[in-house]
Amino acid sequence: MTLFAHPDFDHHEQVVYGSDRRSGLQAIIAIHNTCRGPALGGLRIYPYPTEERALADVLRLARGMTYKSALANLPLGGGKAVIIADPKRQKTPALLEAMGRLIATQGGRYITAEDSGSSEQDMRVIAGVTEHVSGLRRQGEESGDPSPFTAWGVFNALRCAVRHGFERDDLAGLRVAIQGVGHVGAHLARHLHAAGARLVLADVDTQAVKQLAKELQADIVSPLDIFAVDADIFAPCAMGAVLDSRVCERLKARIVVGAANNQLATAEMADRLHQRGILYTPDYVANAGGLIEVAWQRREDYSHDRVMAHIASIERTLDEIFDRASQEQCSPAPIADRLAEERFSPLFGQSPEV
Ligand code: NAD
Repeated sequence: MTLFAHPDFDHHEQVVYGSDRRSGLQAIIAIHNTCRGPALGGLRIYPYPTEERALADVLRLARGMTYKSALANLPLGGGKAVIIADPKRQKTPALLEAMGRLIATQGGRYITAEDSGSSEQDMRVIAGVTEHVSGLRRQGEESGDPSPFTAWGVFNALRCAVRHGFERDDLAGLRVAIQGVGHVGAHLARHLHAAGARLVLADVDTQAVKQLAKELQADIVSPLDIFAVDADIFAPCAMGAVLDSRVCERLKARIVVGAANNQLATAEMADRLHQRGILYTPDYVANAGGLIEVAWQRREDYSHDRVMAHIASIERTLDEIFDRASQEQCSPAPIADRLAEERFSPLFGQSPEV
């Protein structure tokens, strides 16, 4: 498969292959768009079965970061990097240093960060080679877990969706079905409980779900039943591609809003939900809280309050998306894409806030 004919190629500015004989590095950096600023995106380390799969993943993920950063109003573009390796067996300091040298060749056009398969400790190794690393805490600060920030963004997105979908400002008594009570899902559940929502939880980790249900007086259902429970809102916080045609037909909730990336199995699922009268909240808008916090860490004037206020502004972005979708009588998903494209296209040139 050649690059320019690849189905996931979307006029990416640059795709860089890197290898290092000594450490065994095989890596790809994809820079999708830098109109708003340097391309920030995580480094995924995964044992891709083929180079084609690695290329498809890095192209898709890099493009997604451009859209996410644009709608989070960040002075960042979109990029991503992948190393074809098993993080459990093949991740060595030499491999990470070789990756750092590859990142350094980009001169700051690509900034790396944690992603699946890479940790904050790995970022420290890379930072020994290149300064173009994000998400590193300064000495004495707490660990860099972005999930409380992501959860706060999803909670704000949910409130906004409720205003548009149910025309009400409070969450008291609304029933929310949360799929996955890991890092983000558990924080989200606590925000919702504090706001008076009733919760139904599902997780393949039965211990984790039992413990949280006890803490929040929530109901538990099996992971297979979470889509079909009688709930007002469905919050996917486990894995991607969860909204396939079967789930879209079974869903009883009237609003979908959650943390998972790439929730729609295919783009058509957005129309399917719209036809059923279900308000879909574009995932990359709702789950940008962690990225917003990472972006603020790059600034000297970082403050927790400013970060939280910036994350809360996700509501304003969603207001615009939901309003436009309602005027055009279509799903919010294509509206979000269009709004993002307006923001990162050089023709529009809107200047970022941060
Ligand atoms: P996590 O791994 O901590 O939690 C995921 C939870 O989902 C786990 O408890 C897992 O047991 C559960 N799960 C897995 N399969 C399931 C299934 N079939 N049914 C029900 N539960 C299932 O991950 P996280 O950090 O909480 O992230 C959740 C989602 O949000 C992921 O898709 C992630 O990519 C996305 N996301 C996370 C962040 C962040 O800041 N952590 C930011 C943006 C997007």
